[in-house]
Amino acid sequence: MSGRRRHEQRAALGGEEPADFDLAVVGAGAAGLYSALCAARAGARVALISATPLAQAASYWAQGGLAAAVAPADSPARHLADTERAGRGAVRSSAARVLVEEAPERLRDLLALGVRFDADEHGELLLGLEGGHSAHRIVHAGGSATGRRLLRALSAIVVQREQIAIFEGAYAAELLLAEGRCVGLRATGAPPIRARALILATGGAAALWSRTTNPPGSLGSGMMLAAAAGAELADLELVQFHPTAVCGLPGREGFLITEAIRGEGATLHDAHGERFVDELAPRDEVSIAIVRRMAEQRSAAVYLDMRALDPARFPNVFSALSEAGLDPARQLVPVAPAAHYTIGGIRTDLDGRTTLPGLFAIGECSCTGLHGANRLASNSLSECFVFGARAAKAALDEPIPGPSAPLQRALAPAASPSAPQMPAPSAATRAALWRHAGVQRQAEGLKQLLKDEHPLARLVARCALARAESRGVHQRLDHPRSDPQLDRRHICVAADQQLRWERWE
Ligand SMILES: Cc1cc2nc3c(=O)[nH]c(=O)nc-3n(C[C@H](O)[C@H](O)[C@H](O)COP(=O)(O)OP(=O)(O)OC[C@H]3O[C@@H](n4cnc5c(N)ncnc54)[C@H](O)[C@@H]3O)c2cc1C
Repeated sequence: MSGRRRHEQRAALGGEEPADFDLAVVGAGAAGLYSALCAARAGARVALISATPLAQAASYWAQGGLAAAVAPADSPARHLADTERAGRGAVRSSAARVLVEEAPERLRDLLALGVRFDADEHGELLLGLEGGHSAHRIVHAGGSATGRRLLRALSAIVVQREQIAIFEGAYAAELLLAEGRCVGLRATGAPPIRARALILATGGAAALWSRTTNPPGSLGSGMMLAAAAGAELADLELVQFHPTAVCGLPGREGFLITEAIRGEGATLHDAHGERFVDELAPRDEVSIAIVRRMAEQRSAAVYLDMRALDPARFPNVFSALSEAGLDPARQLVPVAPAAHYTIGGIRTDLDGRTTLPGLFAIGECSCTGLHGANRLASNSLSECFVFGARAAKAALDEPIPGPSAPLQRALAPAASPSAPQMPAPSAATRAALWRHAGVQRQAEGLKQLLKDEHPLARLVARCALARAESRGVHQRLDHPRSDPQLDRRHICVAADQQLRWERWE
């Protein structure tokens, strides 16, 4: 490289020399940890960048488990049919097929890596049932402590891998581009990193909503980074609301009570003690039934009766409620929907490739289309592993960036060079998203959201306005029916932020 070119490159990197890796992975949740591990097992040198210490991602909180058709009476075809049914005519079948066919293999790999899932005395996996599944196929660990077990096990393995350099407490603030490709990133608290490919595994954005089950860091930073670098986003209007998040219990607001508890027989009751919904219907149906019943009865919550359950099956749920002063073995638990999972995100193909060469996205920050307009419970952890493995493989086939290619920086819109960490959304933004883009939406409120200060909130509003129908998690009071013309259609947000409909098969 000429002296002038080297000087230019260093100047673009604020005077620092980049550290070279085969692959950079941003995010240490289930998707990032597993993908980094897959790449390292293939011999790659990996930089793993995580804003939070290891084992503190949203994945840690996963209570239910991961879905895989491994029971003798079950099959990937049946899992696919359930995923399609839950997804309300919008599932991208090719992506869902990949998920259901490869989830059992990924489960076997996790077992081989030493992750301990719950099993009976003969060593057979205990398989749970959750809303929308027609078979027992949810693998869990420590009852409702699946995420915790998974993340602890994977973090411990990753830490021991010499090929993985871990940058904890490092916040990815901008992507680096060269000749139209993503070739690395700059993160606070880490040297600039140059790699043949970069995988975003930064999780979802449901903590942008004021009522949420998510940890505070789930703010869509990866989506903003990808968009700033020119990658397409998709389906941002599709946000899943979990029906049973604790409501009005100080210190436990938004605490999620897993669907598996309803799978074991817990029932939902309105303010008059009446049951009003099939507790094991898909989440969109249960959430909308709860919201309607609360509105009819002008009540702030409905009530989950888990008195008949064995506390030993769900120790962390029972203890969390008891610590907050509620005894679920004797009392009903007040619950209501809360923003839970961003179905939309960075648009990818079936190997996690985004529309920007060299940039991949996996896990909740990605949008493969596999969840359609309503995610089937426990499909997301499976997604992290299935697409995490595929993306690691595909990313290592990317060309090595030429050392002399001029580097450009792509800073996320809400950030600035002096304060690259994206600002936390204001309380007003979070309240506005809940009010105008919550379980039920309509044009009037969404138009107000278009004026919000937060760029992602504005994009959510634009996509939600464009989808002038009700489908799955997207319920428009002013368009209460599904529009058959929009079956299998997805909203893509181009690099210039123009919206475009596409049919995904
Ligand atoms: C309470 C709860 C219960 C759930 N239960 C289940 C369940 O039972 N089954 C199921 O399938 N799904 C469940 N889900 C959903 C599932 O847990 C998530 O979809 C999944 O874990 C997301 O994993 P991820 O690896 O994509 O992201 P996350 O686990 O959210 O990890 C994101 C990572 O990215 C890092 N990060 C973010 N931005 C940056 C940045 N700019 N720079 C550096 N690092 C960054 C974070 O620090 C974190 O390490 C649940 C979710 C919640 C909140």
